[in-house]
Amino acid sequence: TTEDTSSLAAESLSKSFGGVRAVDDATVRFVPGKINAIIGPNGSGKTTFLNCVTGMIRPDSGRVSLRGKEITRASPDRIVRLGLGRSFQACRIFPRMTVTENLLVPVRNRSVRTLLGKAHDDATVRRAQLWLQRLGIDHLHGVEARDLSFGQQKLLELGGVLMSEPEIVILDEPAGGVNPSLIRWISALIQELNAEGRTFVVVEHNMELVMTLSDHVVVFDRGRPIASGTPAEVQADPRVLEAYLGV
Ligand code: ADP
Repeated sequence: TTEDTSSLAAESLSKSFGGVRAVDDATVRFVPGKINAIIGPNGSGKTTFLNCVTGMIRPDSGRVSLRGKEITRASPDRIVRLGLGRSFQACRIFPRMTVTENLLVPVRNRSVRTLLGKAHDDATVRRAQLWLQRLGIDHLHGVEARDLSFGQQKLLELGGVLMSEPEIVILDEPAGGVNPSLIRWISALIQELNAEGRTFVVVEHNMELVMTLSDHVVVFDRGRPIASGTPAEVQADPRVLEAYLGV
């Protein structure tokens, strides 16, 4: 089935730091072709879970699979090559490079040496231009990243993720610290990119955004998913209210 071949899934994933079970036997299946959201109180393990899924840290046990293929021990570079792109909560951009240069640093090997030692083919430069146009920041192409506003830096980082043409896009707090009009712009972009066939997994604290944007919500509490379903379903789930409000 489509679910088996094109989706991202984690099975019994666990990761401890000292005595803290940050991720505790978490089994999650993301819905392919949809906008998936992960929500949960601070410290509930969302970031650690994503770090395990994207190869940034190694889980103590469990497995991660992409299109039915195990990627648990794959390097972050390889995971990007397999079609999984990811942004970070704190933007990962090069402050002294221009906007265009930032997109030309291969995500797979984001070192300055790679950029300086390599002449970029026209097709790659053209692709960078197209993404900048789509993100609405092409007029800033020659500006150093450190001179961009916070919101423009967020868009640039999203551009860096999209340059690898990911099939699945993981975004860590795309609306964090962003003003309302830019939140609407980012939200519309995510919907457009999703309509073109990209699957999204979004960790986000802005509940209004989560509830309007996502098709499928996974709720984390104390290291594991405690509920999942449509926004309406999880909002009505007593376990979710308990996790957030302690009622
Ligand atoms: P969330 O993203 O939901 O806020 P995190 O995954 O950041 O949750 O954190 C889950 C738990 O793991 C927290 O108790 C946090 O303090 C702990 N934790 C996360 N990363 C580390 C680390 N590198 N070292 C020690 N403890 C960590």
